[in-house]
Amino acid sequence: MEIKIDSLKVKHISFRAGGLVLLLLTGIGIWILSNTMQARHQVDLLENMLQAEKYQEARGVFEGLKKYGGTYSEQAANHITEALAGQMEAVFSQALKGDPVSPAKIQGLKQFPEQFSPLLDAELTKVTNLYWDQKITYSMLAEELGVLQSITGKTTELAKYQYLARAEMLRRQYAYDEAEQVLDEALQTYPGDPLLTSRLTQCWKEAGQLVPYDGPIPHLFFHPLIVYPELAFDEDNLAQGYEDYFITVHEFNRILDALYKNNYLLIGLDTVFAKSEEKGKPVLVKKKLYLPPGKKPLIISIDDLNYYEYMLKNGNAHKLILDGKGNIAVLSFTPQGEKVISRDLEIIPILDQFVEKHPDFSWQGEKGIIALTGYQGVLGYRTQDGSPSAEQEKKEVLPVIRHLKETGWSFASHGYGHLDAAKVSYKIFVRDTLRWKEEVESLTGATNIYIYPFGSKVLPGDAKFRYLLDSGFQVLCSVGPTEYLKSTPAYAMMDRRHIDGLAFYYQRDRLRNFFDTESVTDPMRPVQK
Ligand SMILES: [Zn+2]
Repeated sequence: MEIKIDSLKVKHISFRAGGLVLLLLTGIGIWILSNTMQARHQVDLLENMLQAEKYQEARGVFEGLKKYGGTYSEQAANHITEALAGQMEAVFSQALKGDPVSPAKIQGLKQFPEQFSPLLDAELTKVTNLYWDQKITYSMLAEELGVLQSITGKTTELAKYQYLARAEMLRRQYAYDEAEQVLDEALQTYPGDPLLTSRLTQCWKEAGQLVPYDGPIPHLFFHPLIVYPELAFDEDNLAQGYEDYFITVHEFNRILDALYKNNYLLIGLDTVFAKSEEKGKPVLVKKKLYLPPGKKPLIISIDDLNYYEYMLKNGNAHKLILDGKGNIAVLSFTPQGEKVISRDLEIIPILDQFVEKHPDFSWQGEKGIIALTGYQGVLGYRTQDGSPSAEQEKKEVLPVIRHLKETGWSFASHGYGHLDAAKVSYKIFVRDTLRWKEEVESLTGATNIYIYPFGSKVLPGDAKFRYLLDSGFQVLCSVGPTEYLKSTPAYAMMDRRHIDGLAFYYQRDRLRNFFDTESVTDPMRPVQK
């Protein structure tokens, strides 16, 4: 058998076969190439959409990319994580500034739960640790957790951290009972949770370490701060008064630092006295103080926080207000007439922030006592009878008063007309007290604290003294160079120490336990003659 091979034909066939293979390969190549280009194009598209915050469309592209296999999906996922992380940072800083975050934006971010959830978990861990390490305050943490909740809803993990954070905030200011309540409530939802349990044990332990305190209870008082020393110390006819009876923002800040460093702890008068009743009559019960080891109690008060007309022109602030975040701030005007709203220019907001930062400076959130007269309104609001804007001003001051009472501040009567109790007649004293009740107590609520103007006082046996007790005042405060406290079931008499220019000058030694007068003195304060 002869086999004829048509070499040409074979060549031809093989050529054609080769051509087909080549064609096929080229086809595949082009297909791969175009697929690659398409995939890359889609990844670019996705990136653009993320940048434009078109999350729903981006989600569609992301789904489409899955058919191109691992690498592109992965690349895309990385882009998404990156974009979401950036977006989340923006959302958080916006929310923390108090600007509303658009729900559409959050809805958009939620298009990518696989990438978004780990980011949120990481944020939760991060902020909680920052608070635990005392790098951020409780209100910052609470705000962050609030933002997280607005994004994720109240997840079980988030809710647990909210309990933990609140309990920790309470523990830090020695409110052990309340901290325990929070943790007990949390343990009902998370039975046996080791973290919650260990915090509860910590609270029990610390509560057991409190020690009885029998020493003196110093009470320091201040006037509204000098915000603009150039207006106070300006050699006008009030300048000497400002030098003698006021201190500046600079000085208060330094005093506060020293008090904290010297282990003082703010308490309230109701930390010392409980109100009770016996046979229908109000009685004052002196409580036994239990304090953290090494801490010394301290009460502070601010007199005449009324922002009288004369104060407005002489360097004090103008009024207490609530700022955009609902915190107490103070309104003032610079010597050039520029309006300033700040939390750094008056005792109350300064102390609020200080306690936020150092919760262990305050026993269970106590701050201080605000002693008010009434003849030019209260807290910078002209609420007094006869003021043309009284009704409006009353409406405006009420939320400020409410906020103060909710944040550790209490009120005292400083008389209506700033009269000298020892010098005025009984009749005038009664009228003054009644007027205070009518115009000031109606705003602040009842108080059992009376702070005599001018550091004056009336004594048991005096009809005016009797009248004060009958009017519901039980703790009567005067001024003295050292601690003085006398208490009976019917009343307590307490001396306060004046912290002002005179004290800086004449009481350096007596004040040394609290602060060094020389090192707190404002360089703007005129040198004593
Ligand atoms: Zn006064």
